[in-house]
Amino acid sequence: MNDGFETCCPFCAETIPAAAKICPRCRQWISLRSFRNPVVGLVITLFALFVVGGCVAFFFTHAFSRISNPPPYYADHVGSLQILQSKMFFKETTNGPRIYITGILTNRSQIPWRDIEFECRFLETNGNLIDADTSRSYSTVQANDDSAFRLTVTPIQDLQEYENLKLSISNARNVKSFF
Ligand SMILES: [Zn+2]
Repeated sequence: MNDGFETCCPFCAETIPAAAKICPRCRQWISLRSFRNPVVGLVITLFALFVVGGCVAFFFTHAFSRISNPPPYYADHVGSLQILQSKMFFKETTNGPRIYITGILTNRSQIPWRDIEFECRFLETNGNLIDADTSRSYSTVQANDDSAFRLTVTPIQDLQEYENLKLSISNARNVKSFF
């Protein structure tokens, strides 16, 4: 190494030209600035696989989601299902007390909905919230039609505390959805 144009091979310590990409003696790749260097090639290949794999995974996840739960979504049609009437009944069963809620729903949209998710709020006489639950009706409400429903809730308070019910629809699924 008597001038700046020579260097040592880090693998075999042979004096080699500073610009050498491959050591002339041991054939090791010196430069990473070449696509022909197997290390560089491997890194580029792995990166490309990672990007392509990510795109494929994203595509399939998205496609599966569209197939299993296709639009339109209830979130974009909030208010198209309305509760016309609802009533609570209390009953002692062999598994303990139960609250049954029966009512009638109407569908004011052109989209048939099913798996209707209800949010049930139970209030005591002075209006305080004493219990709440989410319950689902698996029946289908056709477009511009009515449908009766029944929900079952397991109470956590004494039954005589349940004075009032506030029922709202939190979600529903398009009948074209799979699951
Ligand atoms: Zn070498």
